[in-house]
Amino acid sequence: MIPAVFDYAAPESLQEAITTLVDGGEEAKLLAGGHSLIPLMKLRLAAPSLLIDLRKVPGLQGIQRENGSWRIGAMTPHTELEHSSELGIVARAAGTIADPQVRNRGTIGGSIAHGDPASDLLAVMMISEATVTLQGPDGQRTVGANELFRDYLETAIEPNEVLTEVRIQALDGWGFGYQKFNRRSEDWAMVAVSAVVKQTGDVCEDVRIGLTHMAGVPLRAHLVEEALRGASLSPENIAKAAEQAAEGTDPPADLNASEEYKRHLARVLCRRALQEAVGLA
Ligand SMILES: Cc1cc2nc3c(=O)[nH]c(=O)nc-3n(C[C@H](O)[C@H](O)[C@H](O)COP(=O)(O)OP(=O)(O)OC[C@H]3O[C@@H](n4cnc5c(N)ncnc54)[C@H](O)[C@@H]3O)c2cc1C
Repeated sequence: MIPAVFDYAAPESLQEAITTLVDGGEEAKLLAGGHSLIPLMKLRLAAPSLLIDLRKVPGLQGIQRENGSWRIGAMTPHTELEHSSELGIVARAAGTIADPQVRNRGTIGGSIAHGDPASDLLAVMMISEATVTLQGPDGQRTVGANELFRDYLETAIEPNEVLTEVRIQALDGWGFGYQKFNRRSEDWAMVAVSAVVKQTGDVCEDVRIGLTHMAGVPLRAHLVEEALRGASLSPENIAKAAEQAAEGTDPPADLNASEEYKRHLARVLCRRALQEAVGLA
């Protein structure tokens, strides 16, 4: 498949990228790893007249620790996340994305901006209480992951804004688990559940659970979290709480799974992710 004709620009500064984006109007699109946008263009589901490649813009790559959080540049590829074990749940989930080729090219910023609810990193951003920095012609703003994902492939990022960096809480001392179910090992998630748990002894001090592909946007499993906070993390309590994982979800049925099957997967994967997070797996 061959995409429609388009122009290409590779700006060498963030300001130049924003100016080119604004001048290009609605038909201009930023290009990061190209692993979501180019397939859409090849299928003629997207036909931007101008691609603005971010790869030469300085300062958009890399991972740094700053006080109690991690700063991750938007152009940081999945493979760098995968090999940064200090990122905990983020590294674990990034390592399950497709195959090495996709992980070498695809970026955290591209994944977030694309807003596909089947992407591995989006619910993980929510449980990491991530914020993203967006730079546009009128300046900079910060948006939390919980306000970012509005609908299927729709985020709070304006068409004239560049996502420059992601900040996530450093969850030092928290346990984590990631359970992804797919038919072939390198496929997208049919359903995935991410969990981070802070415990003292066997008591749950805090817990956050993310659901992937259980609606048009990534979700938190708030009822499970509420059931476990302050409770003993016994296998029985975890199993009972995980039974509520599918409450309030709206999973899209597809060729692989019915809605009910996805709800079943959410419950099972939630229990397993929690068991993994507390070392019971
Ligand atoms: C075969 C295959 C299998 C895959 N499997 C998985 C999987 O299992 N799990 C998973 O999570 N993902 C999967 N992906 C998607 C992959 O992770 C992509 O890399 C990711 O979704 C998009 O990142 P990108 O850097 O390639 O973005 P691009 O494709 O370059 O861009 C995607 C969108 O984001 C916009 N954008 C990009 N960067 C910015 C920015 N900095 N600021 C504002 N807007 C921006 C673009 O304009 C575009 O609209 C798969 C992809 C392929 C091709």
